[in-house]
Amino acid sequence: MNTIFGPIPSRRFGLSLGIDLSPTSKACTFDCLYCELEPAKPIDHIPNPPSVERVVTQVEEALQRFPNTQVITITANGEPTLYPRLNELIDKLNKIKQDKKLLILSNASRIHEPQIQKALAKLDIVKLSLDCATPRCFKRLDRPLKNISLERIISGIEQFRKLYKGLLVIEILVVKGINDKQEEFTALGQVLRRIQPDRVDVGTIDRPPAYNVEPVNYERLFELSGELHGLPVTIVSRHFGQNYFTNLSKEEILDLLAHRPLTQEDITHLFDQPSQAAIEELKREMKIKKSKVGNVEFIEKSSV
Ligand code: SF4
Repeated sequence: MNTIFGPIPSRRFGLSLGIDLSPTSKACTFDCLYCELEPAKPIDHIPNPPSVERVVTQVEEALQRFPNTQVITITANGEPTLYPRLNELIDKLNKIKQDKKLLILSNASRIHEPQIQKALAKLDIVKLSLDCATPRCFKRLDRPLKNISLERIISGIEQFRKLYKGLLVIEILVVKGINDKQEEFTALGQVLRRIQPDRVDVGTIDRPPAYNVEPVNYERLFELSGELHGLPVTIVSRHFGQNYFTNLSKEEILDLLAHRPLTQEDITHLFDQPSQAAIEELKREMKIKKSKVGNVEFIEKSSV
């Protein structure tokens, strides 16, 4: 069971090696309209999770192979805080990470739980999603399990901020017609000024979504961000300043594309010439295909 993917250039954190704690199927407490993974009913556990030992060995091997990795990202085909041995895994990764940063991408659905706060407090960077500040918007957009409440998430993030010394980033993903209202951002601004994250990333859909929803344009993101005054806000744009020239085999490229569709721009900046030639071969073999979100074309793994 391969739990590693990448490395891939993360727009905000540099060259990132991904750890997938749910490599066999999607396992998430939400079923967001904009999810890049396939639609799936929310659940509260990871079926068949990989062992801590396996994950750590695979990270060690990957770090030897890709020494220019800048960040190790704990993620899942879904929500990584559902991993049953998360605290132990984080302790072990901290021992082998060398000079890399350790990051988690979480939807914050368990951030109110003391044992999750304790585990996440040992990471260099914690990135939590908070798309809405009103329960109606949260239910429409993130479609959580029934027992998950937005109030508890918000108070959990506030508590966590008080004990966490690392970099806390909040991500807001804006979807047209749902959380792109001025009132929603006024409410988000009030909540976030209480939380005081180190950074707020405001973005929109830029990869093929699970459901039929649309992005908003940059101007709208800019207007909405005006409600987040007093906070360090970045509007995420697809801009790269660096080339990485990573070498991956055809199989590794397919694995990577199964986790994350890439644009031609990603491919040019990420891969060396042999890997780019392998992508062309995969296209001819119809193992990968193109799809479009707004004006951006993506390469993703074919479903057959
Ligand atoms: S929280 Fe993330 S993985 Fe889960 S449904 Fe939403 S976008 Fe997908």
